[in-house]
Amino acid sequence: MQRQKPYLDSFPDVNGYFGKFGGSFIPAELEKPFSQINEAYNKLSKDFNFINELKNIRKYYQGRPTPIYYAKNISNKVGGNIYLKREDLNHTGAHKLNHCMAEALLAKHLGKKKLIAETGAGQHGVALATAAAYFGLECEIHMGEVDIKKEYPNVVKMKILGAKIVAVTKGLKTLKEAVDSAFEAYLKDTENSMFAIGSVVGPHPFPKMVRDFQSVIGFEAREQFLEMTGKLPDMVTACVGGGSNAMGIFSAFIDDSVKLYAVEPAGKGDKIGEHSASLTYGEEGIMHGFNSIMLKNENKEPAPVHSIASGIDYPSVGPEHAYLNSIGRTNIGLCSDDEAVEAFYTLSRLEGIIPALESSHALAFAMKYAKEHKDESILVSLSGRGDKDIDFVIENYPLV
Ligand SMILES: *Cc1c(COP(=O)(O)O)cnc(C)c1O
Repeated sequence: MQRQKPYLDSFPDVNGYFGKFGGSFIPAELEKPFSQINEAYNKLSKDFNFINELKNIRKYYQGRPTPIYYAKNISNKVGGNIYLKREDLNHTGAHKLNHCMAEALLAKHLGKKKLIAETGAGQHGVALATAAAYFGLECEIHMGEVDIKKEYPNVVKMKILGAKIVAVTKGLKTLKEAVDSAFEAYLKDTENSMFAIGSVVGPHPFPKMVRDFQSVIGFEAREQFLEMTGKLPDMVTACVGGGSNAMGIFSAFIDDSVKLYAVEPAGKGDKIGEHSASLTYGEEGIMHGFNSIMLKNENKEPAPVHSIASGIDYPSVGPEHAYLNSIGRTNIGLCSDDEAVEAFYTLSRLEGIIPALESSHALAFAMKYAKEHKDESILVSLSGRGDKDIDFVIENYPLV
């Protein structure tokens, strides 16, 4: 079946812009290597062998297609009809491997020997280390010292998978410094290494590339939903940190008249530092090499952020989300820390699925929405499984 995707073919433009958002704001030394990645991607994304190789990896290694599941018990309880796209069943337990395998395949085709990236909570690092092992590439993950202590199980996993961890000791010793450190390391050897970004963020071509690689979520789900119900869903929703699982599932529905809700972490309050709802409270600005909507402090620098889910506490958002929201194609949903934990327990108890705290945000919003739209069918991106979160949840939100 020929896919009709006029939106995806037109956005971003050749310079990586979604309206006024996106682009590339990088040091001069990075311009050449990044434009080489862009050219290679444009060529390979139309190459039959590349497409076929990726298809086989998804089928035989990742275990795709992941199913969609009609959450009957939750639907009965809250009203409406809630369906889950089960990215938690993708190999390594989250959607991130979708673009990491593709980025690594791209690196392999370019003759690179090494993958370099930053990681915050360690999820991207683990997915990339997995891809590196599969392709026999070296893998170097830059991680703040604070995060190394906080996310120790992921550090262990990366080591077992054969990745080298570079501990970053500058500044606040978290994600921002890790990004700088990874860029520096990449600049020293652009010939042999490839920079692999963790979401639909960063300078052009990363937001486009990662979206295209993640769009497999949406195209699978659209076909599966049609087969299961004979119609398209009325509403599709996903949590948004950088926004890759959301862009992945939205991609297949942008040209349809399906409502799209991007769910942002409302954390524990509406003051700066209590949430990471960039689209809701942010303003236009440039950070990490792209123009988007971001949260700023009083000095107009990136603001401190908070979410109970460490995969979505980012002070900006992918430029395509900023664009789609600015033209009214997507709506924003909000979900607090407490609501996310409640949804985490609800899905575990009612359906036997323990979701990631990130994914719990989308589910919590879907349940709120379903109560008010009982005749609608809702498709939720269940971006990952919750094994990584169980100790935290049971310690901080014990069941009585
Ligand atoms: C990293 C992560 C996210 C957030 O990333 P996006 O790019 O916003 O999708 C969401 N869910 C899970 C399970 C994650 O690991």
